[in-house]
Amino acid sequence: MPRAVVTGGAGFIGSHLVDRLLAEGWQVVVVDNLITGRAENLQHLQGRPDFEFLRHDVCEPFDIEGAVDYVFHLASTASPVDFVKHPLETLRVGSYGTENALKLAVRKGAKFLFSSTSEVYGDPLVHPQSEDYWGNVNPIGVRGVYDEAKRYAESLVMAYHRYKGVDTRIVRIFNTYGERMRLDDGRVVPNFVCQALRGEPITVYGDGSQTRSFGYVADLIEGIWRLAHADYHLPVNIGNPEERTILEFAQIIKRLTGSDSPIVFQEFFTPDDPKQRCPDITRARELLGWAPRVSLEEGLRRTIEYFRTQV
Ligand code: UDP
Repeated sequence: MPRAVVTGGAGFIGSHLVDRLLAEGWQVVVVDNLITGRAENLQHLQGRPDFEFLRHDVCEPFDIEGAVDYVFHLASTASPVDFVKHPLETLRVGSYGTENALKLAVRKGAKFLFSSTSEVYGDPLVHPQSEDYWGNVNPIGVRGVYDEAKRYAESLVMAYHRYKGVDTRIVRIFNTYGERMRLDDGRVVPNFVCQALRGEPITVYGDGSQTRSFGYVADLIEGIWRLAHADYHLPVNIGNPEERTILEFAQIIKRLTGSDSPIVFQEFFTPDDPKQRCPDITRARELLGWAPRVSLEEGLRRTIEYFRTQV
């Protein structure tokens, strides 16, 4: 039975990955300091002999007793609201945190998968974004703490692969939504859905003409699972190319929730908010035989049901 360490396993995506690994018969050790993750995401696993939770900040060196076959390094803030609130922690987890996780993989002879982000493309000048695009990032901007931490981390992962022979993978995750997102994480999906369900104004930043492409979490987990087993070391985009403007997205949420909330326009939360984002998923299709299966409407219906139980 393989044994995995999942850093950030108490987070939204991490906890879904943990569920998948356990369902596949793996043993799982989660390492998370709960700065943005939540213990309740893992509550249903408490007491299982194949599951362990270690509350620890991966920026501090750590070791795991026993064999480890795979390190999934997901620990990071991920929402603009969170990385603006925790800028230094965000930089540290990308740098020190990633190196500590890589060192664990070296000591254990484990494979390593790093969760990167579409933010490495910054405010992209190429559309849609393929993995070959180097990006357009403002290193000193407010979002730079996240973008550059992830870019540095990718560089570090490739260096450990090239010079230390670690068997690494990099997934570039595009906007993902689904059950277990925090209501207050500030991202557009929880914000709009909660606002719509509460009958509050739906806050569109800017004029709403910026685009995003939203992928449902189950599709992402399938992509990560397949990538984890592929013999491939360069980054792979995983996301759903169903692109919408944020204004269209607000209207979709209104319709699916049956809400009569007004749509209001506000200042951008951060400067350098990317104007467009859409994954080119050719590589994932060809390499992994992967494509998203859950449509935006279907995924949002499931997510709205979850948020109804939370608001
Ligand atoms: N956004 C918005 N209203 C909100 C939250 C976000 O209009 O209440 C916009 C935000 O400006 C961005 C997009 O929605 O253009 C996606 O934002 P999010 O924070 O979810 O993630 P990002 O893709 O920017 O990392």
